[in-house]
Amino acid sequence: MAQLLNSKLRDAHIAHPDGRRREHKAAIRRAYESTIEELVEQLDERDNTVKRRSNKINQLKTQLRDSGAAEETLRDNTCLICTEEMDGNVTLRCGHEMCPECFAQHSRVNNTCPFCRDDFAPKVKKRNKLPEEGIEAIADTWAMHTRATGYFAEHLRINRTRFLVTPATAEDHLEWLVRENGKILMRKIKGWYDTENE
Ligand SMILES: [Zn+2]
Ligand SMILES: [Zn+2]
Repeated sequence: MAQLLNSKLRDAHIAHPDGRRREHKAAIRRAYESTIEELVEQLDERDNTVKRRSNKINQLKTQLRDSGAAEETLRDNTCLICTEEMDGNVTLRCGHEMCPECFAQHSRVNNTCPFCRDDFAPKVKKRNKLPEEGIEAIADTWAMHTRATGYFAEHLRINRTRFLVTPATAEDHLEWLVRENGKILMRKIKGWYDTENE
């Protein structure tokens, strides 16, 4: 910059050698003024470049942060099984995570982690089987229902002579018989049911 000013001053001196003249002073002044103008222009340009660069840097920083955040979100909130965003999560003993819905589905049929097969619970018991107590209860209900239909009275009337016991005992016996037959029938039904749900 000093070089540029010097050459301008030199030109001014050559063009107007007489230092006392107004033209000389004006030329010198123009040399200074134009140099300052150019300086300001250059500084502006540099300033703009700096501004552009810093804008670009900020933009890149934002992009970097956003992509990092997106990745973070993906890692933290997405269920690896259904790829849905997790609304709460289930963390197994092994540290693997999944969404509650996927866990509910999976844990119904499996007791191991779907990622590493670590046991997270005791082996899933076979469900859907009719419990033995259920059979007894159904058989009882069936017997009561049978009694309500008048089966006992009718049957007792027909077979009275065959029972060598008092009528009350005969009725008890028949009730027992109906209930036991009910159990046999219910076991048979349980067999079909359990086979179907194996
Ligand atoms: Zn899921
Ligand atoms: Zn696991």
